[in-house]
Amino acid sequence: MEIYQRIFESTPDALFVIDQAGRMVLANAQAENLFGYDRSELIDQPVEMLVPARFAAHHAGLRARFLSETHSRPMGGASELFARRKDASEFPVDIMLSPMILDGTPFILCVVRDITERKAAQDELEQQTAELRRLHAELELLAHHDGLTGLYNWRAFYEHAGQMLKTAHRRRENATLLMIDLDHFKQINDRFGHPEGDRVLRAVASTLKAAARDNDIVARHGGEEFVVAAYGLSEAESLVAAERLRAAVAAIENMKARVTASIGIATLAPQTQKHEPAHVLAELLDQADQALYAAKHHGRNQVCHFNRLADLAQPDRSSAS
Ligand code: GH3
Ligand code: MG
Ligand code: MG
Repeated sequence: MEIYQRIFESTPDALFVIDQAGRMVLANAQAENLFGYDRSELIDQPVEMLVPARFAAHHAGLRARFLSETHSRPMGGASELFARRKDASEFPVDIMLSPMILDGTPFILCVVRDITERKAAQDELEQQTAELRRLHAELELLAHHDGLTGLYNWRAFYEHAGQMLKTAHRRRENATLLMIDLDHFKQINDRFGHPEGDRVLRAVASTLKAAARDNDIVARHGGEEFVVAAYGLSEAESLVAAERLRAAVAAIENMKARVTASIGIATLAPQTQKHEPAHVLAELLDQADQALYAAKHHGRNQVCHFNRLADLAQPDRSSAS
C-alpha cells in the first residue's frame, strides 16, 4: 500500500478524497501547498471551504448531483472555476472528479489543478486576438473607405459598381452612373482655407449619402468629385434622381459659401451581350464625365445626361474649367 500512498502524496495536482456529506477525508501535500492550509485544518471539513463564498451554495448542489449520478468528470469540463486559499485569495482551477468505492462506501476522488498561468496565457491570447480583429476591421475600413468623408473610396466603388453591373445585367435592368463635381470648389479653399474645404466635402458626402437610395453606391471619386451608381432607373428617372441630389447639395446650410454641384449622367441599357464589367464601367464613367463637362459648360449647378448631349450645343472644353 505504501507505494499508492507515495503516489497520492507526490502527485503534482492537489488530491482530495471527499465523502458523501462533502467532507474531505484525505488531502495530499500539494493540496496543503496550493490552498495554504495544514492538512489537519482540512480533514473532516466541508470541501466548500475551498470554494469562493459566492459559489459555495452552487457548488454544494453540483456535488450532490455528482454523487447521485456517479460518473467521472474530466479535466477542462468547465471554463471558469475558481478556488479559494486560506488567505481568501482566489485562483482559477481545473477540476477532475472520479467516483470511487472504499469498503462499500462511495467517495469522490477530486483532482484540483492550478491553471493561473494557463489562464493568463489564454486571456492574453484572447486579448491579442481581439486586438488583431479590431485592427483588421480598421484596415478593412481604411482600405475601402475614404478617410475624409467615410464614403467608399475609388477602389471599393470599382468593386461594388462592378457587382451592380452584373446584377443589372442579370435582371435586365438599366445601370446608371452619376458623376458629381463641386462647382468652383477651388475658390472655397482659396477664400476660406483648406479646413473649410474639407468641411464642405464632408457635408456634401453626408448629403449625397442621405439623398441617395439605400441600394445606391455612393463614393468619393477623388478631390471634389463623387460618383453614384444605381440600377433600375430609366433615363428620365435618372434625371429626377440626379436633380434631387443637385438640389440637396445646393440646399446645404452653415457653410461659409454656397455649395453647388454639376452632375453628369450615363445610362447603360440592358446588354444583349455580356461585356467585361471593368470595360463597361470605364465606358460609363467616360460618358458620365462627358455629360458632367457639358453641365459645367452650360453654367454649372445643373444635371446633364450623356444621351441628351446631342440636344445641346457641342461643349467647348477649353472654356469650361
Ligand atoms: P469646377 O467648377 O470647374 O469644377 O471648378 P473647381 O474649382 O471645383 O475645379 P478644380 O478641379 O480646378 O479644383 C478642385 C479643387 O479641389 C482643387 C483642390 O485643391 C481641391 N481639393 C481636392 N481634394 C481636396 C481635399 O481633400 N480637401 C480640400 N479642402 N480640397 C481639395
Ligand atoms: Mg473636379
Ligand atoms: Mg469642381
